[in-house]
Amino acid sequence: MAGMDKKKVLFIDRDGVIVKERQVDTYESIEYIPHVFEALREISRKTDYLLVMVSNQDGVGTSAFTYEGFQGPADRIFSTLRGEGIVFDEINIDLSFPEDNLPTRKPLTGMIDRYRSAEYDMSSSFMVGDRLTDMMLAESMGCRGFLLNADELEVPDELVSTVAMKTGSWLDIAGYLIPDGTLPHRTAAVVRNTKETEISLSVDIDGTGEGRIETSLGFFNHMLDQVVRHSRFDIAGNVKGDLFVDEHHSVEDTALVLGEAVRKALGDKRGIERYGYEIVMMDDTVATAAIDFSGRPEFIWDVRFSMEYIGEFPSELIRHFFRSFSSSACCNLYLSATEGGNSHHTAEAVFKAFARAMRKAVRRIPGDTRVQSTKGVL
Ligand SMILES: [Mg+2]
Repeated sequence: MAGMDKKKVLFIDRDGVIVKERQVDTYESIEYIPHVFEALREISRKTDYLLVMVSNQDGVGTSAFTYEGFQGPADRIFSTLRGEGIVFDEINIDLSFPEDNLPTRKPLTGMIDRYRSAEYDMSSSFMVGDRLTDMMLAESMGCRGFLLNADELEVPDELVSTVAMKTGSWLDIAGYLIPDGTLPHRTAAVVRNTKETEISLSVDIDGTGEGRIETSLGFFNHMLDQVVRHSRFDIAGNVKGDLFVDEHHSVEDTALVLGEAVRKALGDKRGIERYGYEIVMMDDTVATAAIDFSGRPEFIWDVRFSMEYIGEFPSELIRHFFRSFSSSACCNLYLSATEGGNSHHTAEAVFKAFARAMRKAVRRIPGDTRVQSTKGVL
C-alpha cells in the first residue's frame, strides 16, 4: 500500500504551453496560452500533482538573447502564475544550444532524473508539451504526455502509447486529470409510501445544486432549498404528507428519505473525505455544523430558537429533522448556533451550515480509492 503515497508529477514545458512560442526577452513578448490559468488552478486545487517546469531556452547569455532580457520576463511569468495559486515545485530551465549536446536538453532527462526514484510515481505522472521532444522525454521518464497545440504534428508509432491526449485546449487536460469530471455521478432514488406520507426523492451528490423538494410547507421548502443550493447536490423530491394531522410526519419522513438517499448514493464511501464542517454566519446568528459519515448515527444539538413558530412552522421540528437525517444517513451530526438571534436566521444558518459541511464530507479525494477508516469499513 506504500505505493499509493508516492508523489505524482505534472512536468510542464514553458514555451508553446504556458506562453506563446517565441523568444520571450521583453515584457511585451509574454503572451499566455488561453485557459492556462484556469486549467492549472483547477489542477492545483483538485489534484495532488506536483508542478515541475521543464524548459529549454536556446542560447540565453548570447548577444541575441541576453540573460537580463530573459530573466525579468521569466520571473514575471512565474509571479503571475503564483498570484493565481499556481505554484511550481521546481523550475528547471536549460540554457544550452542543441550542438552543446548536454544531457539537460530535451528529450534527454538530465534536468529531471531525480524524479526517477521510489519517492515518485512516474506511471501516474504526465508531461505537458508542444513538441515531440517533450513526448520523447515523457517516454524516457516512464510517464505519459499531453501534446498541446500541435495539430500539425504526426505522432510516430513508437510514441502513440505515450501520448495520453493531443488537444488544442488546456481545459481538456484539466478534465483528464481531475477525476470528479470523469467519475460516474453518485446517485440514488428512494420511494417511501406509508399511511402517513408518500415520498419520492432522487439525489445526485455530484450535481450543481439544482432541483427542489416540494413538501407543501412554505418555510420547510425554503430550508430544503438551502440544502440543495449549499450542498450542491441535485435533488428532486415530492412529499405528500398528512398535513391535516400536522407537519410532524412530513418533516420526519422527508429527513429519513433524504438521509437514506444520501447513504445509498455514497455506497461504500471509498475515496471520500468522510468528515466535513462549516461555520455559517447569518446576520445575528453564527451556526456551526460538523458531520462524519461514520456509519453510525449520533446527534448532538445545541440550538435554541427564541420563537416557538417560524411563520407557521413549529421550530421544534427542525431538531427532529436533523435527528432523523442522522439516523437514516448513519452519520454523526453536530449542530450548534449562537443564542438570541432571529429564529428564521438561526434556522437558515443551521441548514446552510449542515449542507456545506455535508458537501465537504462527501467530496472525493482525487485518485484515492481507500475507505477513510483504519477499520477498512464505514
Ligand atoms: Mg515548447
